[in-house]
Amino acid sequence: MKKCKLDLTLEAKPIHDECGVFGMYDFDHGDVASSIYYGLFALQHRGQESCGIAVSDTRGPKGNMLSYKGMGLVNEVFDNDRLSDLHGDIGVGHARYSTAGESIYANSQPLVLNYVKGTLALAHNGNLVNANELRARLSETGAIFQTTIDTETIAYLIARYRIHSASVEEAVSRTIDDIKGAYSIVIASPRKLIAARDPFGFKPLCIGRRDNTYVVSSESCALDTIGAEFIRDVLPGEIVTISPDAGIQSDTSHCLPEDKMGRCIFEYIYFSRPDSMIDGKSVYEARIRAGRYLAQDSPVEADLVVGVPESGNAAAMGYAMESGIPYGTAFYKNSYVGRTFIKPKQNARESSVRVKLNPIRSVVEGKRIIMIDDSIVRGTTSGQIVSMLKEAGAREVHVRISSPAFRYPCYFGIDVPARDQLIAYRRTEEDIRQLLGADSLGYLSLDRLSQMVDDLAICKGCFTGDYPVDPPEEDIRGKFDA
Ligand code: SF4
Repeated sequence: MKKCKLDLTLEAKPIHDECGVFGMYDFDHGDVASSIYYGLFALQHRGQESCGIAVSDTRGPKGNMLSYKGMGLVNEVFDNDRLSDLHGDIGVGHARYSTAGESIYANSQPLVLNYVKGTLALAHNGNLVNANELRARLSETGAIFQTTIDTETIAYLIARYRIHSASVEEAVSRTIDDIKGAYSIVIASPRKLIAARDPFGFKPLCIGRRDNTYVVSSESCALDTIGAEFIRDVLPGEIVTISPDAGIQSDTSHCLPEDKMGRCIFEYIYFSRPDSMIDGKSVYEARIRAGRYLAQDSPVEADLVVGVPESGNAAAMGYAMESGIPYGTAFYKNSYVGRTFIKPKQNARESSVRVKLNPIRSVVEGKRIIMIDDSIVRGTTSGQIVSMLKEAGAREVHVRISSPAFRYPCYFGIDVPARDQLIAYRRTEEDIRQLLGADSLGYLSLDRLSQMVDDLAICKGCFTGDYPVDPPEEDIRGKFDA
């Protein structure tokens, strides 16, 4: 039997999504900043490094956008005074996660752009795969970039096209002809709120309404938070323009046939909140199904099914329901580990995982445990959790993962490490099991991924290397992002 050694001293960074976007337009002209704040608060799980809000008064001058941005969580950046200074009935907000080195104030959003037709505020989630070419093209014609975010490229394109377009939505449409990759965008123009989703539908985006106020959000959970009613998802490829004169207008000229779409399946597995609905499918139900499929495909005799909090919990519940094995809570999760938490040094006895999670000895002692997690990236965290359960007295630990093995990078705005850092890179399932110290290991199969979401067209690129859109020739991950 091949022996493998896993360095359990390293802290494994979980995969991250990159950004949540939120936009509002109150046709009755009330201020929207405080509702945007609560919307961003509900989207905080999508990005914790910086955030911002930009608003304007649709009855005022076209070039007057008020904005405030900062590094940190929504409730760290904004207070009552800051919010009450932001007067305006139309606005957008953004919560951002970035890759290492890019977490700087200049890259925080929304981006506010003054140009000949007025002022635009843009918030964007995703990564363009042709960012290099577009930047080079724009730079050659005089554009000077002040950030390293794709959002600025998109903003420049819209501003340039707007000069020769009849409307801002036409400029957005022409921009979409140029940009390739993953994006959900919300734009506050002087008199219109515009939302656009890439033709593959990588990132979620939906529309809601509260009285006479229209809302656009990355996830439906944020609509619930502000008391708005869900109207519908923005279709992959659709441009939605919201204005008092015309209500909701839709341009579907960039939409693809359903079988060409490629929604990021990780939104369902891990990123999105379980209380969100994306494209008509409940995130929670998708996770329950994943757990049920694991129980059908990778059964094992055991005493208790437990989830690694939080995203492993629903899949663990599904496994328990399908198998008849009791579901239990095996971990206390310390919720006070924030962005500014000082990570233990590598040679310290404390580890970040132990600080965040502690097994409940009385639950696991003497038991055969099925431990469900959403994914294994580098494997360091999973390995530590298995050993913590064993130290707490678990007799056996059977690991089940509610996604297939990560084998390829993501170019669409998800921070997956380089291939050779992935535990599944050039390793068999048995190698990985040994590395984790688990008694058995089972992944969700590729076929089951589609079944989780009733055969919606999805992206499985990080599992298969086959992406809905060609990845860039040069690896630009972490260089230009949102
Ligand atoms: S490659 Fe993976 S993480 Fe990236 S968009 Fe596709 S499914 Fe999502």
